[in-house]
Amino acid sequence: MSATAVAPAWAELAGQEAAVGQLSRAATMDSPTHAWLFTGPPGSGRSNAARAFAQALQCEVTDPAQRGCGQCHACLTVHAGTHADVKVMATENVTYKIDEIRELISLAQDRPSSGRWRIFIIEDADRMTERATNVLLKAIEEPPARTIWMLCAPSPADVLVTIRSRCRPVGLRIPSVQSVADLLVDRDGLDPALALFAARASQSHVGMARRLARDEGARQRREAVVHLPLRIQATSDAVALAKELVEVTQEEAKSSAEVRNAEEKAGLLRALGLGEDEKVPPKLRHHVKRLEDSQTARNKRSVHDTLDRAMIDLTGLFRDVLALQLGTGAELVNEHLRDDLGSYAHGATAERTVARIDAVATARRRLSGNVPPLLALEAMMMSFLPDRILDRRPGEQV
Ligand SMILES: [Zn+2]
Repeated sequence: MSATAVAPAWAELAGQEAAVGQLSRAATMDSPTHAWLFTGPPGSGRSNAARAFAQALQCEVTDPAQRGCGQCHACLTVHAGTHADVKVMATENVTYKIDEIRELISLAQDRPSSGRWRIFIIEDADRMTERATNVLLKAIEEPPARTIWMLCAPSPADVLVTIRSRCRPVGLRIPSVQSVADLLVDRDGLDPALALFAARASQSHVGMARRLARDEGARQRREAVVHLPLRIQATSDAVALAKELVEVTQEEAKSSAEVRNAEEKAGLLRALGLGEDEKVPPKLRHHVKRLEDSQTARNKRSVHDTLDRAMIDLTGLFRDVLALQLGTGAELVNEHLRDDLGSYAHGATAERTVARIDAVATARRRLSGNVPPLLALEAMMMSFLPDRILDRRPGEQV
């Protein structure tokens, strides 16, 4: 990567030199700040950054510059998600329950069991209700010794100002397409052309890019999603295509969860010093149980998250169309579909394209609420009808 070698813990953070510098310096301190707020758009790696920081803080090497060595027991177990003193909190619900936060705070009163710090990472801190936030605020205001809180949210504005003002901010940015592609080539040994396609198509989302580059099925499913607007010809198609979108995202959610869960399990067994097919001895089984519990919680969310990802893909597609209509000369997210999108752009107006981007945003909002997916998606599909059909129906809302 760069000339200044970074400890392995940070290697996943493509294009985040400033944050890596800030965090690796903090990890060498005797008493780092006890509350941190990681912000950045989805895919920028805010929870990965928090985990990397936790790894560096717990790392057992004596040379502070090497913290986050990636080799010691602490590094391996933090990475595998089974370190006894690093608790990662993610919710499968739309908001955290206040009891979940209370439980976390009572755990925070304990001393570290083996590590130097007791670390709590709260993913999606923006999903805390005001009541839950106030409970957490007390814990952050009067921190137990050796406890470090790490909160993650899309932007500082998503967290109540009372919390925000007590946390040290760590801002992550969207990495460049090229730095994501480089990471896939350097770290995963992937083909440069495929890596570049994946980095672009994922809009610099590292995890998604890796998945696209490595999995032919994932690429095909993404293609199916972005082709939907190009296929719709009549009102009657909207229902069928909405159904197809739900099915393809369910398939993708299942497949990506299987791959990810298997990789995490393999990583955990490695961290425990076990071979792939070795039987897990009873005294280590609680590690496996803990991992499986967190995977179950995540699986529940993954259909929603995958559908949300499809919405981002559709937004990217219409942004491409708009770029072609306005002749901005920008590089397209779907560069490989340039010809198809060119003819689509020709048959539509920029106003309609903007309306379609809005319709995707509306569907996305409704999907996060309690609207049944098919209903939200059918309404969105109607806005994808070709202009020539929409033109025939004056007064109809797009
Ligand atoms: Zn280490």
